[in-house]
Amino acid sequence: MCGIVGYVGPQRAAQVLLQGLQKLEYRGYDSAGIATLNEGKLLCVRAKGKLHNLAEKVEQLDIVAHVGIGHTRWATHGKPEEHNAHPHRDSRDRLAVVQNGIIENYRELRQQLQGRGHVFRSETDTEVIPHLIAEALPETPTANGLLEAVRQAIHQLTGAFAIAVICADYPDELIVVRQQAPLVIGFGQGEFFCASDTPASFPTPVLFCRWKMVNWLG
Ligand code: GLU
Repeated sequence: MCGIVGYVGPQRAAQVLLQGLQKLEYRGYDSAGIATLNEGKLLCVRAKGKLHNLAEKVEQLDIVAHVGIGHTRWATHGKPEEHNAHPHRDSRDRLAVVQNGIIENYRELRQQLQGRGHVFRSETDTEVIPHLIAEALPETPTANGLLEAVRQAIHQLTGAFAIAVICADYPDELIVVRQQAPLVIGFGQGEFFCASDTPASFPTPVLFCRWKMVNWLG
């Protein structure tokens, strides 16, 4: 079982994400990564092996972003290599997704997406998700554009999974979804977290959640 973390708030997201991933190390993993949003730019950093490999790369970048997602991966589809580590992105590098679980119908979806011109950069089941969301995004951002695009993508997936999504066109949003897999959400003072843990907390079969930074950004 891998770990997912997400953060929106006034702290530096990269540090919060790394600390969160450390707390989820007990679940086991073979690689790790984070993606952050800053000034409309998506930054994705990934590393094979232990978390300190990722931490070394992150430290060199001095990331100031306040929105981000992170992941420790336990490979089920695709070798434990950096190019298969999460987060995974769409073809235009605007969206990043982390996933815990298995997308059972990924082969059909991948074939269909490739037929429509999407370029895949990993062998994972997860990578279909950012491509599906990208297809459903409106040309120009709308109030619920990302949330609706995620909803449309999720309805095409079968399997048990939890995901977290960020998008450069929606720079103050973090969207999380769970379907028969654990995901905990937490609210601090003007900040929001998500993490994989305590499966008994959420009895509903599907949970959609979106957080927006409104207060502290003004
Ligand atoms: N099935 C996904 C993969 O192989 C996620 C595995 C996990 O939960 O870590 O990348």
